[in-house]
Amino acid sequence: MRNRHKYHPNWNDIIRPEILKRDNYKCQDCGVEHRGLYLVQESGKLLKIDKEEYIEALRAEEKVKKIFLQVAHLDHNPKNNNYENLKSLCPSCHLNNDRVHNQIKRKSKIKN
Ligand SMILES: [Zn+2]
Repeated sequence: MRNRHKYHPNWNDIIRPEILKRDNYKCQDCGVEHRGLYLVQESGKLLKIDKEEYIEALRAEEKVKKIFLQVAHLDHNPKNNNYENLKSLCPSCHLNNDRVHNQIKRKSKIKN
């Protein structure tokens, strides 16, 4: 994890697991499941598959993904660990979330 020192000391042991549990181990934006196995379809959409299908897809050299959810800070302040500020997101939704934030940050920098 980058910037690990910025995170609360209980982040990995308490806060992160509690948020994942609260959110039912699902990405709150797109609904993919924590540790879920997915086939990446041609459209880019994910299709949930079971372990056997996953192994089969790997053998067939199809594109597959195992999802590990991340817990995002909605206000992008890693010190604000209020549970309302935290949300379980899959890596691609987390990236989208941050991208919007970074664009806003960049824009406001230009303005100043
Ligand atoms: Zn997602």
